[in-house]
Amino acid sequence: MNHEFDEQLRQLRQKGLMRQLRQVQTADGLQLSIARKDLINWGSNDYLGLSRHPALVDAATEALGQYGVGSGSSRLITGTSPVHEELETAIAMFKGKEAALTFSSGYATATGVLNGLVGKEDVIILDKLCHACLIDGAKLSRATLRVFPHNHMGRLESLLEWAVNEHQARRIWVVTESVFSMDGDTAHLSEIVELKQRYPFLLLVDEAHAVGVLGHQGRGLIHQLRLTDEVDLIMGTMSKALGVSGGYLASTRTVVDLLVNRARSFVYSTAPPPSMAAAALAAIRLLQTAEGESIRRSLHAAMDAFASLAPERFQRRSWKQSAIFPVLLGETRLALSAAKFMAARRCFCPAIRYPTVPKDRARLRISLTAAHGKDQIDQLASALIELEATLFPAEPENESGWEDEPAASSQES
Ligand SMILES: *Cc1c(COP(=O)(O)O)cnc(C)c1O
Repeated sequence: MNHEFDEQLRQLRQKGLMRQLRQVQTADGLQLSIARKDLINWGSNDYLGLSRHPALVDAATEALGQYGVGSGSSRLITGTSPVHEELETAIAMFKGKEAALTFSSGYATATGVLNGLVGKEDVIILDKLCHACLIDGAKLSRATLRVFPHNHMGRLESLLEWAVNEHQARRIWVVTESVFSMDGDTAHLSEIVELKQRYPFLLLVDEAHAVGVLGHQGRGLIHQLRLTDEVDLIMGTMSKALGVSGGYLASTRTVVDLLVNRARSFVYSTAPPPSMAAAALAAIRLLQTAEGESIRRSLHAAMDAFASLAPERFQRRSWKQSAIFPVLLGETRLALSAAKFMAARRCFCPAIRYPTVPKDRARLRISLTAAHGKDQIDQLASALIELEATLFPAEPENESGWEDEPAASSQES
């Protein structure tokens, strides 16, 4: 048996695409120890540091005492505790929707929602950079899939035109993220919503990287743009800025009631532990307090400080407001050596490569958090300036051809 799989591993290794787990030790989430080297963590989605916040830890601990560790069965059997329902009410209010349903992960939310609501006579139109869970959910639904180039409104419109007039779809779904997970830019949500006046479609937006970061009290980009009523289905995860684990869908009561019956990842999966729900509830409450606001301000201060120090060449027009800063490098091996270069300067900046991003768009993905202070940001910026100098030596004649790399500024398409 192993022979065949060894061969697959060998091929991955040969292409520089082999991934391996490495043990990370950390006392605070910020200072990491990897293979006995001490590094600053620039790879976490725990944007507000809530995963270790005492309010969340206490809420989880108390729920552990009250409910135990596991929930015992699916939500539909005996797995729904009062805290699950409290959390769903809080999420619905936070997102400005009538109702919400929680799942064991963001991934399970996307597959459950798309497979549960979309039929095979439907058409799903996705942004090219949508997260794998949205693509997998779309495939599970067996609907006809179409993809538009990232944020390309003209192509989206022509696909809508095609779906309505030529394909005569029963129903059309447009799926996008509000903040894109690997590029850190934002969807053109207002323009997408405008298209609703000309084409009949339902809009699903994934706010995984916007909640806790953008909008009043961290309610997300949809709230910031005042588009809550226009976005039919809002999904998100509790595993990023909320610091816990689990996913959610917020929409109408009818949609939620239907999903309770149809979302297979909800129906056929054991309820998330009550302690997780209690911690997520504490996170959502915390975001709405003065303390939450002040933590969020620290994150934005880190984002602003870094934006003013990071090398111009690595800055991108589309990177405005998220905590995700990609350093586009192009080739897989270049991204891997850049990650090593940064690690030698005590910065843990993960290299992101195919299949998470396209083959020629490997990168470092830096995420800023509220816990990063001035000194750490200075250190990161200096390391990036050194990296830039190594990649783009200041020669009058550029013989290496580095400037032709699809690096730095050429992201928008
Ligand atoms: C991380 C992520 C998810 C998955 O959420 P999990 O809770 O980690 O399963 C879904 N969508 C996007 C855009 C993400 O970045």
